[in-house]
Amino acid sequence: GAEPRTVRQGEPRLTVVSGPSGVGKSSVLNEVRRQVPEVHFSVSATTRPPRPGEVDGVHYHFVSTEEFERMIADGEMLEHARYAGNLYGTPRKPVEDAIASGTPAVLEIELQGARQVRQAWPDAQLVMLLPPSWEELVDRLTGRGTEPADLVEKRLAAAREELAAEPEFDETVVNADLQSATSELVRLILGQEK
Ligand code: 5GP
Repeated sequence: GAEPRTVRQGEPRLTVVSGPSGVGKSSVLNEVRRQVPEVHFSVSATTRPPRPGEVDGVHYHFVSTEEFERMIADGEMLEHARYAGNLYGTPRKPVEDAIASGTPAVLEIELQGARQVRQAWPDAQLVMLLPPSWEELVDRLTGRGTEPADLVEKRLAAAREELAAEPEFDETVVNADLQSATSELVRLILGQEK
């Protein structure tokens, strides 16, 4: 967190996309990426180890805790948060450069980070991706069937908390089907009227 940033009129917007685990954020955002490749998608820094198939500098910047803490100390993070035991943060410069050069920018981050962006960047548009229903989300989170019950309980509790923050968001997009959720989100990111 730092000084609130002054916003010039007519600048493209910064859009923050959040939503509970299991809502299908990555599928929707992958489709958005495919449809509007000219938009800047922030690459977060994280202390979590890469999962199979994840590429450093593409999916995340995988950094040590020391490097992450240095970035915070040097004011290089627009926001950061701890999630499931790891640190995640948005490097500030690429986002500022994109907006300054006229390119809309998108962050896919969790709730605490979204709240920090709200403070640091008052003009940002906060979008929450919602499941079609709570029952649907429970199905998606438990349906994997492989996780221990206490882990599923933790995920459900976290999801309930994220959903309760809906009033803090400017817009909601229901992910009932991939194509309509994608086109709704693209419209918001590009700042187009309905
Ligand atoms: P995962 O480890 O599954 O990739 O991500 C875990 C959570 O961290 C997701 O909710 C994701 O949106 C969030 N996340 C990813 N990057 C950032 C970031 O830069 N800042 C914050 N606050 N959350 C992030």
